Amino acid sequence: MKWMDGHCDVLYKLWKYPEGGLDFYGKGHGLDVTYPAARRAGVGMQVFAIFVPEDVPRSQAWQVALEQVDRFYEEVVRKGGLQPVRTPEELNTLTRENRMGGLLSLEGADALQGSLRHLRILSRLGVRQVGLTWNYANEAADGIEEERGGGLTRFGRELVREMQRLRMVLDVSHLSVRGFWDVMEENLPVIASHSNARAICSHRRNLMDDQIRALVDRKGLIGITFVPKFVHDDPDAATVDDLLKHIEHICSLGGEERIAFGSDFDGIEQKIPGLEHIGKLSLLGEELLKRYPEHLVKRWTWTNWYEFYAGQL
Ligand SMILES: [Zn+2]
Repeated sequence: MKWMDGHCDVLYKLWKYPEGGLDFYGKGHGLDVTYPAARRAGVGMQVFAIFVPEDVPRSQAWQVALEQVDRFYEEVVRKGGLQPVRTPEELNTLTRENRMGGLLSLEGADALQGSLRHLRILSRLGVRQVGLTWNYANEAADGIEEERGGGLTRFGRELVREMQRLRMVLDVSHLSVRGFWDVMEENLPVIASHSNARAICSHRRNLMDDQIRALVDRKGLIGITFVPKFVHDDPDAATVDDLLKHIEHICSLGGEERIAFGSDFDGIEQKIPGLEHIGKLSLLGEELLKRYPEHLVKRWTWTNWYEFYAGQL
């Protein structure tokens, strides 16, 4: 089974623990996603998030984002065989030469410090996707945990329109509900890289049915995520079976062709039993094949993401 994973925080960890002995090409000490384990599990492409945590002063956020871009090119690309994916040609290389690809994504516009220049620079450095917020407010919009629940700011609108011009993908995971609907008024490709269904698990990071329907109508994608608290209302009880309930629900809303996966590996401490690291994707593949026809499972694990990026990059 071939896989694409729509979200991981490897770059954050490589930046956060420079002396931690973390090695993307090593045996996986301290990392959930490594090249050898990903390859063994059939991963053909991984999306790598650039994430600047809340405890970094805003004045240093841009610097930290650039340092994570550097980690990507030095420790993930240059050190081994990973193909950076920035263009349709580079995406094609993955299947033609059977290589593993990596796509850069920014999680939270905080790092842009309210500057479209910073967005353009990141775009030229190969960042093809932006999630407007993490959980809280920034210059562009409010995140889902921000009490007032505001939508896009004026800068947020400008940012989205510049992203559209630069042919970047917009990721609505973490965004406030109002921000979500503001984005839906704009004309650019939209995904939720790592979010589940709120009808199945009531955490507010999950998507409501009308949001799922809107993403389906837009031909966006929903990356089913392995974060236990987004899978089951009692995170300690979350299982692979519960994950399948989210898939089932999105299918019931007409989303069969809009389902994909976004693990959030390396961004989570707690794991679903059986899904502790990227190497376990092959086991999830086996579970999926027990329940669903092969042509659908292949779509969810690879083809939906692949076709989406092929059409957008
Ligand atoms: Zn996240």
